[in-house]
Amino acid sequence: MKIVLASNNKGKLAELQSMLEPLGVELIAQSQLFAGEAEEPYHTFVENALAKARFAAERTGLPAIADDAGMCVEAFGGLPGVQTAYYCTQFGYEKSDANNVRALLEQMQDIDNRRATMVSTLVAVRSALDPEPLIAVGRVRGEILREPKGTNGFGFDPIMFIPELGNTFAQLPPVVKNSYSHRGRATQQMLDMLRENWF
Ligand code: IMP
Repeated sequence: MKIVLASNNKGKLAELQSMLEPLGVELIAQSQLFAGEAEEPYHTFVENALAKARFAAERTGLPAIADDAGMCVEAFGGLPGVQTAYYCTQFGYEKSDANNVRALLEQMQDIDNRRATMVSTLVAVRSALDPEPLIAVGRVRGEILREPKGTNGFGFDPIMFIPELGNTFAQLPPVVKNSYSHRGRATQQMLDMLRENWF
């Protein structure tokens, strides 16, 4: 079965593709099928993921999966949340993973409460107007380090320290991160729901 992934992020495509392989799913990035991206005007991950999934299904005629993920920092009342990808632009930096890490470290310089949660919300629709989307939410709690450690992964992985694992996500092999991460947890739930409802 072909499913379009409503994201152009190569890191997510690789992670999700390896996790969906057991179902015989061929995941295709939306950029291979059409140009443009859905608007993400909402305040919650689930609303934005649903908007992205519906948009990709509408443009391709294929079932679609979208992921909206972000960092919720306890000391910032859960922000940047849905604005995570653009976080650094609030402080005059160009949008990039490296600048997001730099901006977050700067903003947390005088903050002792380093607790943060990475959240991944996956939404799957069979068609653009699917009245019953499948929704899975995965969370992982960690602490924001004061300097990056490790070179694997992407995004905030080098500063997201997971106390139970004694490492940042960027210090772990991808297979370990995938089994433990917010997206890994959401994907496991989504796999179960897909098996039960679509296959
Ligand atoms: P989006 O879901 O593509 O909008 O991602 C939101 C933000 O969270 C981006 O800045 C990503 O780099 C970051 N992010 C998403 N997933 C991960 C992850 O697994 N590790 C680290 N950062 C992530």
